[in-house]
Amino acid sequence: MALPRRVLLVTGLLVSGALGVSGCGSSAESEAGSAAPSPSSSRQFKPGGAGVGDDYFPTYGNGGYDVGRYTVRVRYDPATDRLTGTTTVQAAATANLSAFNLDLAGLKVREVTVDGAPARHLRKGDELVVTPARGLIAGNGFVAEISYDGEPAALPNETLGAGGFLHTSDGAIALGQPESASTWFPVNDHPSDKAAYDFEITVPAGLTAVSNGVPVGRTSADGWTTWKWAERNPMASYLSMVVIGKFRLTRGEHKGRPVFHAVTTKLSEGAADRSIAKTVKVADYLERLFGPYPFESYGAVVVSDDRIRYALETQSRPVYAASFFRQGENTGVVAHELAHQWFGNSVALTRWQDIWLNEGLATYAEWLWTEHDGGRTAAQTFDARYAGAASRVWRTPPGKPGVENLFGESVYQRGAMTVHALRVTVGDKAFFEILKTWAAEKRHGNGTTAQFVALAERISGERLDDLFDDWLYGTERPARPERR
Ligand SMILES: [Zn+2]
Repeated sequence: MALPRRVLLVTGLLVSGALGVSGCGSSAESEAGSAAPSPSSSRQFKPGGAGVGDDYFPTYGNGGYDVGRYTVRVRYDPATDRLTGTTTVQAAATANLSAFNLDLAGLKVREVTVDGAPARHLRKGDELVVTPARGLIAGNGFVAEISYDGEPAALPNETLGAGGFLHTSDGAIALGQPESASTWFPVNDHPSDKAAYDFEITVPAGLTAVSNGVPVGRTSADGWTTWKWAERNPMASYLSMVVIGKFRLTRGEHKGRPVFHAVTTKLSEGAADRSIAKTVKVADYLERLFGPYPFESYGAVVVSDDRIRYALETQSRPVYAASFFRQGENTGVVAHELAHQWFGNSVALTRWQDIWLNEGLATYAEWLWTEHDGGRTAAQTFDARYAGAASRVWRTPPGKPGVENLFGESVYQRGAMTVHALRVTVGDKAFFEILKTWAAEKRHGNGTTAQFVALAERISGERLDDLFDDWLYGTERPARPERR
């Protein structure tokens, strides 16, 4: 995610207590557990947890299963703000389950089946508790199908813009970090459970529906058009998006992959179009630094809505607020969101506390791009930040920012300074080897700070715990890094 500097500066003040509000669900286990599977079974079946156990967001995601693929079919009519959906979740049980949860905010669930048989379901705040007719056995796959409808609504973490489904003047935008997906489909809403996605978005004819991945066709009937998208590589749920409205579309191909850009027609053709047209050029530059581009498609979406004040690295097709291009061409933000395709998307978080791994590396990539593009060098940017950062940046450890500073200045600026400090300490050769190896070894997976530090030590052959302790966890300005 990239925030305009104006927002970054106030984020720490505004956000406190506003995140992590995904609702209750803590009492889901006891009630769901009362519907036990067949007593004739010798296995013990228990309900899956209502969260994955993320310290920062205890109710995010769920326990007891691992999703392989979502098929999300929704119809949305902006005239009535009504969404009708059927989502199929193909998953594997990781425990013997009598019941399991999905995350779903608002919306009315009409019917749930598991492996084709009707399943009981109840709502506990933003948790959907599903009790299948028979227990699910650990290691076995299962398919849940959920039918639902209603007027979707964003989640109330609006200090960063807005999280989730927003009705706009010409359609809708479903977007947001750290959560958004549960406002339009039932989901295991935590980056530790990545999955493939198929989207079929049906909208009134004349509107466009853009989502992640490869465009795989479009059909029209009875005044409606269905746009189909496939993200076949594993994707964290918050990196999913749909944007519905009137757009200027640009299609192309690059290195055998489709390129699909969409710019809202609320914006006249100009700096936004020119900036995102450089997507493949920037991606090619980053590919030289980080290794092969990790996804099957390229693209960008530019939206104009006062409630979206950020850019987000939605997988294979980032979404940018028009405001980023108000002063003219801006490829810095494009470099930031594209760098996330490697760091944040392909290598995703295991827990939200490690957000600096996403934002520090993406911000550093922005510094590298600026240097490549003829602007100041990464070393000059480091020097300026090191000398000029506000005291709150040094007080706030980016490796443990707390929920209130998850998208604060320290995570971005001190996170990027940490990356530069590593580079200075180990030298360019080892540094770029570390980044490439991290992207390669964790490709389409998840990582943690501890694993990143271990890799950096392995490749550099140096002990780096002091360096990372000072830069990631200290509460005062670390010493200037020096080549060892
Ligand atoms: Zn970012």
